[in-house]
Amino acid sequence: GIEQVLEFRVMPYADAQLMMVVRDVTRLKQLEQMRKDFVANVSHELRTPLTVIAGYLEMMEPDDLPPARVWGKAHGTMLEQCKRMDSLVSQLLSLSRIEGLRRIDQDKTVDVPKMLKLVMIEAETLNRDKHHTLHCEIEEGLFILGGEDELRSAFSNLVFNAVHYTPAEGEITVKWHVNNGCAQFSVTDNGDGIAPEHIHRLTERFYRVDKARSRKTGGSGLGLAITKHVLSRHESELLIKSEVGKGSCFSFSFASNRVKQQVTDALLQLD
Ligand code: ADP
Repeated sequence: GIEQVLEFRVMPYADAQLMMVVRDVTRLKQLEQMRKDFVANVSHELRTPLTVIAGYLEMMEPDDLPPARVWGKAHGTMLEQCKRMDSLVSQLLSLSRIEGLRRIDQDKTVDVPKMLKLVMIEAETLNRDKHHTLHCEIEEGLFILGGEDELRSAFSNLVFNAVHYTPAEGEITVKWHVNNGCAQFSVTDNGDGIAPEHIHRLTERFYRVDKARSRKTGGSGLGLAITKHVLSRHESELLIKSEVGKGSCFSFSFASNRVKQQVTDALLQLD
């Protein structure tokens, strides 16, 4: 971090006198440093896959492809790296889009159960090679006021992370329910857990516990930064509880003034 930075300026004052103006520019310097770090991180993240792709291409002659076995591996790796870059660019776009949205766009009624069902269908696809057991407890009719697109990324990032980072054949529970008048979402997994020293840094842009592993799963380190940002725009915050060797629980909730409970068809029929 940056320590306090003061700027001193000496100016003429009245007749033949001098005045010294002291300005605290710490915040300004911090913002400037954050911007520089961000650009450096983005460049690094984009350059890594490019280096891999260029490396393979340089090894090959246009009219003389290597043997099928070698080519097969090179092809697979290049494709993987292209996907990685693609996902990084779309996450960067989504971050900048969210930052540019006006708060006014956040007062639509969002049908969270419907959105979560779509997220779970995508999670099932990701789950094909992981074979986790996915439990899902979604309270019907529990809607909230907010921005639909940005909320979808907040919810789905947590679900997809649990699928990605939990070792195969794990157990993941996704819950959406009312708790003390608030609408609460949680994703619990029985994965490896996260050590305490990492937990408070997870929502920093590009922060990953295990860079190599997260890269293999296509992670960019932006998912939780996006989630945190979206939640703060909805007066909510991300809670992370985790125990090494046992698993993690990521959750957030929305205050009652954002909750819109709808009576479901099933209940109407009972009346
Ligand atoms: P990434 O794109 O790398 O997944 P995120 O911001 O979504 O970036 O997550 C940051 C890091 O938090 C991940 O790289 C991973 O190390 C850790 N993480 C996130 N979710 C989990 C989880 N459910 N279990 C263990 N580690 C997790």
